[in-house]
Amino acid sequence: MNRYQRTIKNPIKLSGKGLHTGRFTQICLMPAPASTGIVFFRSDLDRTRPIPALWNNVSSTDLCTTIGQGDYTISTIEHLMAALKGFEIDNLHIELNGPEVPILDGSSLDFVEELKQVGFTDFSVQRKILLCNKFFEFSSNGRYFSVSPSDQSSFSCTIDFPNSVIGKQSISYKSSPHSFQQLCNARTFCHLDEVNALKRMGLAQGGSLDNAIVISSEGVLNEGGLRCEDEFVRHKLLDAIGDLALLGAEVVGHIEFYKPGHGFQAEVMHAIMANKDEYFSMVEPFSPCDTSRIQSSTLQSSFAFSLAKTFSR
Ligand SMILES: [Zn+2]
Repeated sequence: MNRYQRTIKNPIKLSGKGLHTGRFTQICLMPAPASTGIVFFRSDLDRTRPIPALWNNVSSTDLCTTIGQGDYTISTIEHLMAALKGFEIDNLHIELNGPEVPILDGSSLDFVEELKQVGFTDFSVQRKILLCNKFFEFSSNGRYFSVSPSDQSSFSCTIDFPNSVIGKQSISYKSSPHSFQQLCNARTFCHLDEVNALKRMGLAQGGSLDNAIVISSEGVLNEGGLRCEDEFVRHKLLDAIGDLALLGAEVVGHIEFYKPGHGFQAEVMHAIMANKDEYFSMVEPFSPCDTSRIQSSTLQSSFAFSLAKTFSR
């Protein structure tokens, strides 16, 4: 795990349709200083009003994760957030000229390709870490989450759908940019009946076989089928990684999910933050002006430094 905060070297521009609005939107990712976090702006409404990508800014979890307030919102942020978390990027300004992040191919793949191309800048400021000290679990409506102490960040994820095309699938994942590249191309999915119902409700307007796996009782309707046998659970884990990125810190611990979903992830983050002091330690970064102190012998014995030392790239 990278122990220092990271941003991108050069801006990234992408454009495409939103899955739910069908609206064509341009998105620009720009480098940002250490300890900025991931911050969104709507350039079509008010370029100066920030929406920090944080759990307490989630305004809706219907079909996707939306942050912001009133009409000043940005939806379907999860695949982009997963790509940023996957590549350990802590700081960015992100401008959109519309209400929804482009769906692209329904996965995080295009974001990952762009991120790999522009490269990264590492700051001499440590990342913010949410360290699990004690087993924590949370469940709601048949869904389950737990996190147990570990010296790394890892996941086990299981989905269980009554539909036999999806069925029960499980995956284990150890966080690193390398392993994220095995996960990033898993596409979002839905049932054909669901697509028709959503379209009648004015949703999924941008949805097509180019940006989602569509299944019927007979099987997968996309030409070429699945990208991998367990693409469904891989995508659900991708969503969960993107959603938990809204904690604004790297969770150090082993996370287990059973039946993840955007609404559940929002509940999980509220539960974690409400119980933070009992189960977790938030290891805050040293400020940029303090970085010289990281090398000093007085800090070498500090908790944060000894923790950071246990991580290697
Ligand atoms: Zn998704």
